[in-house]
Amino acid sequence: MPTSTLLIIGAGPGGYVAAIRAAQLGISTTLVEGQAVGGTCLNIGCIPSKALIHAAEEFYKLAQYRARSPLGITVGSADIDVSKTISWKDGIVDRLTGGVKTLLKKNGVKVITGWARIIDGKTVEVAQSGSEGGTPLLITCEHLLLATGSLPVELPFMPFGGPVISSTQALSPATLPPTLAVVGAGYIGLELGMAYSKLGVKVSIIEAQDRILPAYDAELAKPVLNALKKLDISVHLSCTVLGMDEGYSRLRLKSTEGEESTLAVEQVLVAVGRRPRTADLGLESLMLDMTGSAVRIDDQCRTSMRNVWAIGDITGEPMLAHRAMAQGEMVAEIIGGKRRRFSPASIPAICFTDPEIVVSGLSPHEAEQAGIDFISAVFPFAANGRAMTLESTEGFVRVVARRDDHLIVGWQAVGRGVSELSTAFSQSLEMGSRLEDVGGTIHAHPSLGEAVQEAALRALGHAVHV
Ligand code: FAD
Ligand code: NAD
Repeated sequence: MPTSTLLIIGAGPGGYVAAIRAAQLGISTTLVEGQAVGGTCLNIGCIPSKALIHAAEEFYKLAQYRARSPLGITVGSADIDVSKTISWKDGIVDRLTGGVKTLLKKNGVKVITGWARIIDGKTVEVAQSGSEGGTPLLITCEHLLLATGSLPVELPFMPFGGPVISSTQALSPATLPPTLAVVGAGYIGLELGMAYSKLGVKVSIIEAQDRILPAYDAELAKPVLNALKKLDISVHLSCTVLGMDEGYSRLRLKSTEGEESTLAVEQVLVAVGRRPRTADLGLESLMLDMTGSAVRIDDQCRTSMRNVWAIGDITGEPMLAHRAMAQGEMVAEIIGGKRRRFSPASIPAICFTDPEIVVSGLSPHEAEQAGIDFISAVFPFAANGRAMTLESTEGFVRVVARRDDHLIVGWQAVGRGVSELSTAFSQSLEMGSRLEDVGGTIHAHPSLGEAVQEAALRALGHAVHV
């Protein structure tokens, strides 16, 4: 029976990073993956969605230039061959997943393709692909790491299939539908809804809450709502779906006031959240403590059973790739004998809408809830030269800091291209920067980053350019 010090189930960003780091530390490591190395993130999540968003933006820009060109650029008609766009996107996925496979091999990780089923905390059986009906492979281990990720939530009265699609199908369309209804105005609904709209699809968004992106503060969501209007996306807030009509051509909606209506649509993208992937895994044999549907972990990613660990989406929110990676690296180091705890100053989050939103650390509301006496300042991109040259003056950078010692506790930004500011935000929080540190750092000109410095200066009462 093959044995390994560390056995990891799931080769998403959590599992493959844990495997590489463990192997670097000399730990004998086996990684079991049922579908595709790279997991949701590389195959059907972060990377393909950002590729599609970029392609849609390029196409939209050309289509805009045809109609109206403040820059003096004119082009003929813009056209798109979606099958080529998808091949290009798949090429990026192949390059990245191929790179991860090479890294795993180079570091000596044993990768097994097949679905794993837990027998007990130290034994897993794997139904290897290509040997259906054959004897499953039994593997024993000292440490078991669960990294099986998550799956899209299905609406019970409108399961995936036919015109009802999840993000996975939305990322690989054979052709574009003339109309698309998106259920859920969260990350996926807005990122993909906007991309489809830029590709020429008539998009409607249905959201149960009374505003889009309910997880973000309203000021940050406002410029995104304006952009939805500019794209002529119809937004139905405080509204839920009841299902498709019998002919599967109309979506039935119900407002919170009880008013019912229908919407003619060719396709419906359901993006109402994701749930930890705990089924068909034999997890019940471990009788682990759970938090709702997620595996409960402590600040070292230990579960309630000794030497059974869990990382990433299976442990619940925030379901973000960089959190899974950081947890994976930490677990490998703890097993390798290092003293580690998972206590980041912040886990940044980016919403890749147009404009983009970035948050890192506490918002003013969260600081207030935490009982912090804080100061906060905003610097608008309307006063930033680089933003003007990029035709992206909507949005702002906001900083939140303690009033007494000026320790920065949070950053938020909304605007075109602000995703790249997340690095500066998180580094300043992790390094315990004060407003004076950021305000006193020379930021290159002209750059969007100058708005970060100016926000800090404004919080100190002496911004220069506003
Ligand atoms: P996963 O990436 O889900 O990987 C789990 C792996 O385990 C899968 O490959 C699965 O096949 C395998 N597996 C499951 N069960 C078994 C089993 N029994 N045996 C063997 N293998 C098994 N996050 C961001 O941070 N930024 C983004 O921009 C972003 N965009 C996203 C866009 C979309 C459309 C989606 C759907 C998600 C996005 N996410 C994004 C979320 C991100 O993809 C996840 O947080 C991340 O992939 C979680 O990593 P993980 O390792 O926990 O699990
Ligand atoms: P989400 O939690 O971001 O948004 C779901 C939205 O659907 C919410 O606004 C919710 O109020 C709404 N909703 C729920 N039930 C509804 C119903 N019956 N009718 C109408 N609206 C309803 O979930 P998601 O967009 O599916 O994304 C799933 C997860 O994937 C995210 O939580 C995130 O962790 C991850 N993700 C991250 C990124 C990124 O980092 N840029 C991108 C995509 C996905």
